[in-house]
Amino acid sequence: MLLRFSCLVPTEGDLQVVDCSSHSTALLIRRCCRKWGFVLKNPMQRAEGMSLCFIFLQKEIQGTIFVLTKQCISFRLCSGFGSPTASGRMRVTDTGEALPRTKQIQFADQKQEFNKRPTKIGRRSLSRSISQSSTDSYSSAASYTDSSDDETSPRDKQQKNSKGSSDFCVKNIKQAEFGRREIEIAEQEMPALMALRKRAQGEKPLAGAKIVGCTHITAQTAVLMETLGALGAQCRWAACNIYSTLNEVAAALAESGFPVFAWKGESEDDFWWCIDRCVNVEGWQPNMILDDGGDLTHWIYKKYPNMFKKIKGIVEESVTGVHRLYQLSKAGKLCVPAMNVNDSVTKQKFDNLYCCRESILDGLKRTTDMMFGGKQVVVCGYGEVGKGCCAALKAMGSIVYVTEIDPICALQACMDGFRLVKLNEVIRQVDIVITCTGNKNVVTREHLDRMKNSCIVCNMGHSNTEIDVASLRTPELTWERVRSQVDHVIWPDGKRIVLLAEGRLLNLSCSTVPTFVLSITATTQALALIELYNAPEGRYKQDVYLLPKKMDEYVASLHLPTFDAHLTELTDEQAKYLGLNKNGPFKPNYYRY
Ligand code: NAD
Repeated sequence: MLLRFSCLVPTEGDLQVVDCSSHSTALLIRRCCRKWGFVLKNPMQRAEGMSLCFIFLQKEIQGTIFVLTKQCISFRLCSGFGSPTASGRMRVTDTGEALPRTKQIQFADQKQEFNKRPTKIGRRSLSRSISQSSTDSYSSAASYTDSSDDETSPRDKQQKNSKGSSDFCVKNIKQAEFGRREIEIAEQEMPALMALRKRAQGEKPLAGAKIVGCTHITAQTAVLMETLGALGAQCRWAACNIYSTLNEVAAALAESGFPVFAWKGESEDDFWWCIDRCVNVEGWQPNMILDDGGDLTHWIYKKYPNMFKKIKGIVEESVTGVHRLYQLSKAGKLCVPAMNVNDSVTKQKFDNLYCCRESILDGLKRTTDMMFGGKQVVVCGYGEVGKGCCAALKAMGSIVYVTEIDPICALQACMDGFRLVKLNEVIRQVDIVITCTGNKNVVTREHLDRMKNSCIVCNMGHSNTEIDVASLRTPELTWERVRSQVDHVIWPDGKRIVLLAEGRLLNLSCSTVPTFVLSITATTQALALIELYNAPEGRYKQDVYLLPKKMDEYVASLHLPTFDAHLTELTDEQAKYLGLNKNGPFKPNYYRY
């Protein structure tokens, strides 16, 4: 895989710096910064006095680095920039020197070795190929503020919790009380985990389990970890993303005795150091892995392959991590059973359909303050995400059109009361265009040229390829950053379109993901760990498995009491008639919900 970048000088632009949800992108940015001798400042700091802007173009990654001075930069992920006029264009050599025209420079980054942190003598140099992890986990909280302006690396601090333990490394243990409040708020919306804790009071299904985890460290993860602890497990944890750690929560976990090694704004060296501190401990060896993105699994494979002799299983959440596991399995290199949590029915439904139904309006409102009643909207793609978006917009009184390529989904759209059209037929009249296809170039420059003034364009699909944003970077169009995540692209005749999040996932960029959605994922993770840990010898081989249907049903049932929902029970006669066990599973594996 190649990392390409070019460098431009924007004449203006909103410099509000937001967080980076992709660990791999963050690593790339850091590596490039180091290469040019720039010091990466606290990423939440507002950038001022920007002088250069770097555009990263990679398969799934587009991002912008704002350079303040040669010594100080700050960045945000995006693919656009202030005003890309020809006169503003420059290129930068890999020594950081600015030259007068844009030219793409390529790095073969996959095998790139990371350098040692130059100032830290004696620290181990941790090298690996650049990971793609965590770019695909929709359940991940990406952005938090960090109240601490202490620049000292947590690795250089001596900290102890109130019980005298120093087996952790967090930003500031004193923030524990704030973190505890965050955890208590999250507990309210994670009823299934709380129910698991209650049910497990007598029995401890994870007694003896030593779980090493690598996930986003947020309040929701903390609820999961404390549940695992209540179920009898010992846990050691690192972050799967160098920017998504909520420092206060990490502090709260450390205070309550969890060896947590994570803070917001880790360097890549810190990242691997933290993972290593979780795994490489005297007198403690993990027997279960909970991973999000596959970095932890990768690390153990690379550094401590013998550990797999004692490991009973891997639970993996993300698309990328699952993909890596299937690759290992295909190559005959997977040496323990693994559970693919990403593709369990409940997770898919909640992440795609319900999460998008909840967050599409939030993303649009926060960025545009628009009213939805009576607005004409076209939604491209009527899969799970499209269905969620359409339902939310219809409920608000919008007039919704749908485009589809698949006659089955198209018919569903018709039956749900939406007008099925070709994009060309409505492009001149609609107020909002939303892409949800997972495809590329669904909205082309031709469509963008024909949109009416003030039309809002955004994407809810995984990658930023659905809208051809690159085609808008031409000299005759002017870009005006009007708010964080909102660009006006202005045509020479004065027409402007409103581009949100530069064509990236709207809800992940501009709104929050409901905790209840994360609750489903976390419960699935907990059950997958219990299943793998307790499975009798031979039930699972060295392969990748989906969570058994019955456990998927159990995850759902644990969430039902929140709604005071009353589930009907099969009578013996009915169960016999349907050929089902009264306690489930109620559907065959091939059933589509
Ligand atoms: P899906 O496969 O169920 O739906 C996509 C639909 O788009 C399909 O019905 C397909 O026929 C249709 N389609 C493909 N090309 C098209 C085109 N050119 N014009 C019109 N329709 C087209 O997938 P999904 O679960 O709905 O997910 C869609 C995208 O959203 C994926 O990229 C997925 O990774 C992403 N996703 C986003 C979120 C989020 O929070 N925003 C959550 C989950 C998934």
